[in-house]
Amino acid sequence: MNKDKEVKKRILTGDRPTGPLHIGHYAGSLANRVRLQDEYDCFFIIADYQILTDHLKETEQTEPFIKQVLLDWLSIGLDPQKSTFFIQSQIPEIAELTMYFSMMVTLARLQRNPTVKEEFKASRLPAMSYGFLGYPISQAADILIVRSDLVPVGEDQLAHVEQTREIARTFNGIFREVFPVPEALVGEVSRLPGLDGQKMGKSRDNAIYLKDNPGEVRQKVNTAITDPARIKATDKGHPHICNIYKYHCAFNGEEAPEIENRCRQGKIGCVVCKKKAAEKVNAFLDPIREKRVFFEARPSIIKEALREGYEKTLKESRETMNLVREAMHFSYRDLLEGEKIVAG
Ligand code: SF4
Repeated sequence: MNKDKEVKKRILTGDRPTGPLHIGHYAGSLANRVRLQDEYDCFFIIADYQILTDHLKETEQTEPFIKQVLLDWLSIGLDPQKSTFFIQSQIPEIAELTMYFSMMVTLARLQRNPTVKEEFKASRLPAMSYGFLGYPISQAADILIVRSDLVPVGEDQLAHVEQTREIARTFNGIFREVFPVPEALVGEVSRLPGLDGQKMGKSRDNAIYLKDNPGEVRQKVNTAITDPARIKATDKGHPHICNIYKYHCAFNGEEAPEIENRCRQGKIGCVVCKKKAAEKVNAFLDPIREKRVFFEARPSIIKEALREGYEKTLKESRETMNLVREAMHFSYRDLLEGEKIVAG
């Protein structure tokens, strides 16, 4: 157990490298991570195995997307001096732990997972692979390889944390207490809809990215769907069903109540309202863009963050796997003692 572990609870969370991150990611989890890294021992994972579930034939994009995610993380203030950044596939112990865990979960249990069902539906894949069905087990291995105490999630991810808790309890019950039973840290998650009102995402082409330039933001905001009842600027509106109003609430908190009133009374037109929203989103993104330029010009910072993160995660993972193999009677010390092939 490392020193940090004694004083700070440990957290694992992260992103799939399927493209740059957007303001929906920021509102839903990234802003929270920036706060958490001061209070907890945070491990931030880039979950590249997970893209194989639904992007199997697009792996040539993985490396540039990983770079984008790392630039996004650094630009919004995740700090490799405070937290540990690592790439999932760089830690082979995760795959090994996934294999052990896969013996502890029934097929029926995996098939009941509501999030897997929804994600499969959204993927539009013709059939579900063994790896897709089992990815909550891989996720449990991500969390437990560093023996995390907490997992920050939105409501829609609770099923995965519950699966991880079950696996930790099952392992500890069959063998010996190796894993903490991690708790879900369900924070106040604010959901920002995409420009069309659906969940913001790359595949829906409805996202404003953290890396978008001011012109792109203005152009995208202009296309956003607002209250369909408003034809003329004097029509009385319903801001609570309008995507732009939600952007005002997120990025223009001070003016949002006034905009709500003026919209309800038909005293502001959507064109003006969108222009204001774009300005506020751009004002929010400006410092992030500046930091991005800084980090883009200094690739050694990214490399160093990944190198240090890899070393720390590997050390933790090896410790975990030594405990796991001991508990499972898979150390084979009598047979292998003194030989190079002793694991760990
Ligand atoms: S005035 Fe603003 S809040 Fe009201 S419907 Fe138009 S864009 Fe939405």
